[in-house]
Amino acid sequence: MATTTSDYYEILGVKKSASTDEIKKAYRRLARKYHPDLNPGDKAAEKKFKEINEAYEVLSDSKKRAEYDRFGKTDFEGAPGFEGFKTQDFGFGPGGVEDMFSDLFGRFRHEEAPLRGADISTRLDISLEEAYKGVTKQMTLTREVPCKSCGGTGAETSQLCSHCKGTGSIKQSRGVFRLSRPCPACKGSGKIISKVCKACRGSGSTLSTDTIKVRIPPGADTGSRVKLRGMGGAGVKGGPAGDLYIELGVRPHSTFKRDGNNIYVDVPVTVTEATLGGKIKVPTLDGTVTMTLPPGTDSGKKFKLKGKGIPDRKTGVRGDEFAIIKIVVPKKVSNKTKEALREIEKAYKT
Ligand SMILES: [Zn+2]
Ligand SMILES: [Zn+2]
Repeated sequence: MATTTSDYYEILGVKKSASTDEIKKAYRRLARKYHPDLNPGDKAAEKKFKEINEAYEVLSDSKKRAEYDRFGKTDFEGAPGFEGFKTQDFGFGPGGVEDMFSDLFGRFRHEEAPLRGADISTRLDISLEEAYKGVTKQMTLTREVPCKSCGGTGAETSQLCSHCKGTGSIKQSRGVFRLSRPCPACKGSGKIISKVCKACRGSGSTLSTDTIKVRIPPGADTGSRVKLRGMGGAGVKGGPAGDLYIELGVRPHSTFKRDGNNIYVDVPVTVTEATLGGKIKVPTLDGTVTMTLPPGTDSGKKFKLKGKGIPDRKTGVRGDEFAIIKIVVPKKVSNKTKEALREIEKAYKT
């Protein structure tokens, strides 16, 4: 594919009589085909690309073209003001080659990208009973929303940016490459704010306080998070809203202690109940249940009430409750009781 010709017209595949437009078209087509980015490692394409650029530099400039037509190529090499393309170093600024081609390939990048709104996190405390059963809570939440007065633009009135004529981008020419850059005057919006929106002072968003309902499924624990999609901060330039994360705290309970999905409860029993056994009442998150205490139960003994714990958040499988026996002694005792207790004392020695 690499030609051996050094004739600029032949390199571009145009006639000597070709118009500037024809030269431009030919160049665009060839530059696209042989661009090193599209032919990585292809030395022949790289050479061809250099030749094409060299030819175009000359033939696109009426003065240089006229001189070339008269004197031929050699007169131009090293001539002042001649800027050849170097394949190793495309001096196109930060955007580089990709930017240079964005226009050629019809990819416009002049708009500032829409930004997603910020995620918000907040804390909500619930009771152990609410964690056990699940609950729907109302919350008052203040967050940024797009300003209703100006639709998020920040402008009460605006006019087309005169710098970019409302397109939001500035085109710069470098050879036939037309580079698109965001317009610095309007930051790519194409509009200049002539009167700032009073409601949002030009920020495009306002604070809004709403009451929202949050459903908390059974099994929540301290540190569990509930995510409400799209309930976070307002997006910028049409970007989506962020999410709202509600971090839950489960308040300590006066009766029950929690360890994961298991529940622990102290159950006071009398000396008689502990010694002789019997039916005792045990509180659970479902209400009070009756349990049979075996005779001779020591203080601190644990009894498992299967499935009386907290349901697992994912599986729904319930944890267990552990009833811990605490023997309590009577505080006021009659002489008769004292005598009876001394009788009991003898029982320990046998
Ligand atoms: Zn506004
Ligand atoms: Zn502009």
